[in-house]
Amino acid sequence: MNPLPNEIQAWQMVAVGELRQVALPLPALAAGEVLVEIHGCGVCHTDLSYFYDGVPTRQAPPLILGHEIVGVVVAVAEAASGRDAALLGRAVIVPAVLPCHDCALCRSGRENRCLQQRMPGNSLGIYGGFASHIPVPAGDLCLIPEGVADSALPHLAVVADAVTTPYQAALRAQLEPGDRLVVIGAGGGVGGYLVQLAKVLGAAQVVGFDLDMARLAALQNHGLDHAIDAAGQSVSQLKEAFKTHCQAQGLPANVGWKIFECSGSQAGQELALALLGFVGKLMVVGYGRHEVHYNISRLMAFDAEIIGSWGCAPRHYPAVLQLCLDGRIALEPFVELRPMSAIREVFAAARRHELQRRVVLTPDF
Ligand SMILES: [Zn+2]
Ligand SMILES: [Zn+2]
Repeated sequence: MNPLPNEIQAWQMVAVGELRQVALPLPALAAGEVLVEIHGCGVCHTDLSYFYDGVPTRQAPPLILGHEIVGVVVAVAEAASGRDAALLGRAVIVPAVLPCHDCALCRSGRENRCLQQRMPGNSLGIYGGFASHIPVPAGDLCLIPEGVADSALPHLAVVADAVTTPYQAALRAQLEPGDRLVVIGAGGGVGGYLVQLAKVLGAAQVVGFDLDMARLAALQNHGLDHAIDAAGQSVSQLKEAFKTHCQAQGLPANVGWKIFECSGSQAGQELALALLGFVGKLMVVGYGRHEVHYNISRLMAFDAEIIGSWGCAPRHYPAVLQLCLDGRIALEPFVELRPMSAIREVFAAARRHELQRRVVLTPDF
């Protein structure tokens, strides 16, 4: 463990579209907090919406973005409890959603959507993951088993959001062995891990749509049964392509599919609604700011459901982490490590959809 620094080095969002490198004084840790030395922070599309589109963060800029954090606990608050004190020196994943554990939603098991929840890089004060260190509440940290090499830590950053968010969505969808899935935006971080999770959980058939066939090709040894190229295709053309695939497989195209919309795009959502059939489920996992039109009476006629899913409860993180450590969910082929000093170029490339893998930035201050 390195000696404690006097300052936190960080890439701070000063205003929409503007980053600067800063050194902030190391804050005193509040009761129940620990200081995590960051080993990696994933770049999520949510960061890009804050940075480029002006989607408001709860903590107004200046703040440090980044909520897919893995690191090592290097300090604990004075008079820390035994559990917190034992965290010193341990590698941890910082969940993207930190519930209050005290409200009606938390008590009813819906803590992933706790209204008092805090999120690093958005509503955890000024601190986020694109930095050398972050003070965080200790209670919900996900412990990485001892023996995982330091060099293996940065890839695990994606467990903080890109792998756990689809896990929560799969739970909400009551995904079970034999299920048939459509994943829209399967080439993205969340969509890709959903494909892998679906197979781990026993899905019989997983069909993915994406604008980027290279990304779908990478999933064909990781749970994707069939890829449909959505580039330049209308919703009705894509629906035809789906029907053709179903016919070839002897599967009903309009009965029982669980459709996961992960793209957050208008076209993706329109496709998801068009594919929703009898006793189907549409899981809304991606986010966009547009509106789509749909005759909701079709839900009644189809006996179907549309369900939203937000984040993931920290109590599920250990199970998801174990799937990654066991290699049942592959991270390495889908993650690219880049030095944090390349943050501007990485944001710009992610914005242009040029990245083939999710980038985890590793601090190099
Ligand atoms: Zn995210
Ligand atoms: Zn709560």
